[in-house]
Amino acid sequence: MLFADVIVDISHESIDKIFQYKVPERLCDDITIGMKVLIPFGKGNKRINGYVVGLGSETDYEVDKIKEIINIDNNSITIENNLIKLAYYIKDTFGGTINEALKVVLPVKDTVKEKNKRKIVTKADKEVIRYELEANKKKNNTARVRVLEAVLKYGSIDYDYATYQLKITKSVIDYFVSMGLIEVETIVTYRSPFGNINAEDKRFDLNDSQRYIVEDFIKEYDSGIRNTYLIHGVTGSGKTLVFMEMIEHVIAKGKQVIMLIPEIALTYQTVNRFYGRFKDKVSILNSRMSKGERYDQYLRAKNHDISIMIGPRSALFTPFDNIGLIIMDEEHENSYKSENVPKYHAREVAIERARMSGASVVLGSATPSLEAYYRAKKGIYKLYEMTKRANDAVMPKVWIEDMRAELKAKNKSIFSRRLYMLINERLARKEQIMLFINRRGYSGFVSCRSCGYVFKCPHCDISLTYHSTVNDKKYDNNGKLVCHYCGYEQSTADVCPECGSDYIALFGTGTQKIEDYVKRMFPMARVLRMDADTTGKKHGHENILSDFAKGNADILVGTQMIVKGHDFPNVTLVGILAADLSLNTNDYKASERTFQLISQAAGRSGRGEKKGEVVIQTYRPEHYSITSSACNDYVSFYEKEIAYRSFMQYPPVANIMVMLIISKQEEYAEALSEMIASKTETICGEQFEYRLIGPVNATLSKANDYYRKLIYIKSNDYDTLKYIKNNLEKWLLSSKQYSKCNVFFDFNPVNGY
Ligand code: ADP
Ligand code: ZN
Ligand code: ZN
Repeated sequence: MLFADVIVDISHESIDKIFQYKVPERLCDDITIGMKVLIPFGKGNKRINGYVVGLGSETDYEVDKIKEIINIDNNSITIENNLIKLAYYIKDTFGGTINEALKVVLPVKDTVKEKNKRKIVTKADKEVIRYELEANKKKNNTARVRVLEAVLKYGSIDYDYATYQLKITKSVIDYFVSMGLIEVETIVTYRSPFGNINAEDKRFDLNDSQRYIVEDFIKEYDSGIRNTYLIHGVTGSGKTLVFMEMIEHVIAKGKQVIMLIPEIALTYQTVNRFYGRFKDKVSILNSRMSKGERYDQYLRAKNHDISIMIGPRSALFTPFDNIGLIIMDEEHENSYKSENVPKYHAREVAIERARMSGASVVLGSATPSLEAYYRAKKGIYKLYEMTKRANDAVMPKVWIEDMRAELKAKNKSIFSRRLYMLINERLARKEQIMLFINRRGYSGFVSCRSCGYVFKCPHCDISLTYHSTVNDKKYDNNGKLVCHYCGYEQSTADVCPECGSDYIALFGTGTQKIEDYVKRMFPMARVLRMDADTTGKKHGHENILSDFAKGNADILVGTQMIVKGHDFPNVTLVGILAADLSLNTNDYKASERTFQLISQAAGRSGRGEKKGEVVIQTYRPEHYSITSSACNDYVSFYEKEIAYRSFMQYPPVANIMVMLIISKQEEYAEALSEMIASKTETICGEQFEYRLIGPVNATLSKANDYYRKLIYIKSNDYDTLKYIKNNLEKWLLSSKQYSKCNVFFDFNPVNGY
């Protein structure tokens, strides 16, 4: 017996409700997930349409009481079909419930009404209206007089103007409408995301490497080849122009394009470039838009008003019905991974959506993720390389400054002598400076200020995190050093095991502190700061960047936010303070992230005619993520990093599934974790290859009164992990313990726990 899970209303929060139906014998072979079906619904068995979101042979209800599907709709491949299939893929690949997945893919209609503009226009001859006006004047019908005078004067007036300004009631308007003197017109106006920007279409002739890629892509596209491509192009190599040429080609064939850009790179400048070229064919989505504004953009896509959608992760679910191409710029960005359940990765979902729609995928980055480059090397993706900057700007000169040597030379400032000198030089030349502080890794690791030694777990090659008994900020002997991967613990030390120095400290400096410091050191400089605190307001981050672009400041201090999406031709010096901080985060992506941050930050320098310089300050000048980013050598970084991942069995060589088990009572979380661990063994038996690590406490071992436990399962085969997850999910639903806990799955996490 086959049962189908059916949702009846896809545009409301009531996606929550899923109803089970029997699939009659005759339909069993044809029914699929995402399909539109006709079902009897409610007490009166009213015939309505629904969509299949799941199929299975089990039910929790009495079989006799379950109604039967009346028919299936074989012909209608609606956009909803495809999005539901995509939701199913997300649930299956990344965990969570089908409801949670549906809420991600289906743009839920908000209570915000469509913004309608109504106008009152004249319908009869002016003479007739004038006659009526005179008649009403005589009768002293002042409201009627006001409306007729206004329409005579202007020809048409806003409905809102009539009701709010002229204080005319609906009955007065209706009266004249019924007389045939006037008419009310409704124009649906979608909220435009662009306001009234006036972008120009600035075009360049393609250079050789751009032309090679575009022509090759077009040749394949036109011969029907659909592929995933990775463009590895150094910062400033002109990837955007390549994307635009591809888009142009694909939309000329009547297809639609989704272009993903991380939110922080979705600046006015980027949007302008696309709007300038594609005008009304393009729309954007971003999190600063209201729900209503965003819903409008989805409608415009569904109605074929636009054919290009630009936006972050969520733009992937634009209800286009004929997608030809999905582009993912800055492919390596962590924000492409959802932090909420289902914790899907946009790269994988993009590839799946493209597969379903017969589209190609183009990934672009100056510093590709290990995952993407690994697959490109294996021939799963097609690799394109762009090794030079497009506008003949040369790559900047990079200095690595060893902060241990600075300390030896009695320089206790946060600036190395070289950076200090170069800043003064730039200030004198009226050129601009960006100071970038790497905020990741402030999670409290402990290091020796004399030699740079960092306390690490002997089993995991990951820095230990300081846990204080009193308060997280203060380093003292009562604290512990803990490994968040395996739970290993040791007590804190007074002296460095490497060099014997007692200058051991907990790391951490904020942007604000640096800003103050910069102001003190360079009192003549105009300093701007950009971080989460200063960009809270709606256009906060645009304002700071455009201020800086206009030359209203000499120095911009910021976090990773300042490294993306902006061209500042007058910036000729980038300083990266504490470049190695992100090496000490407690996850396997630490080196990759460090390499990316340094490369992207360095890529901001010398993008104009003047040559740029970069100063990298570090305690680990010999680390390969620092040396290879300094000489802009992605490949050598990749080779070393992939060897490490392979040795440690970390992604992309192997796969990791993390289970986060939380409960308000620690015993429950503990008990369930243990049960999951042993259940996994039963599920797998001898037939699958995997490694289970844990249960251990999470870094954040308690949050919002919930205790947090972790289990890691590693396997070379993603499908093994999916199999374990699917079976655990099923088992959890029937487990008593589960009612007092929550379990979240995360595949190949991009952040530590
Ligand atoms: P990327 O995205 O690869 O970092 P961009 O697309 O932002 O690089 O391009 C970098 C700069 O080079 C931009 O200012 C762009 O206008 C310019 N540019 C791109 N292609 C060309 C070209 N073919 N000729 C001249 N300038 C170009
Ligand atoms: Zn030391
Ligand atoms: Zn460990």
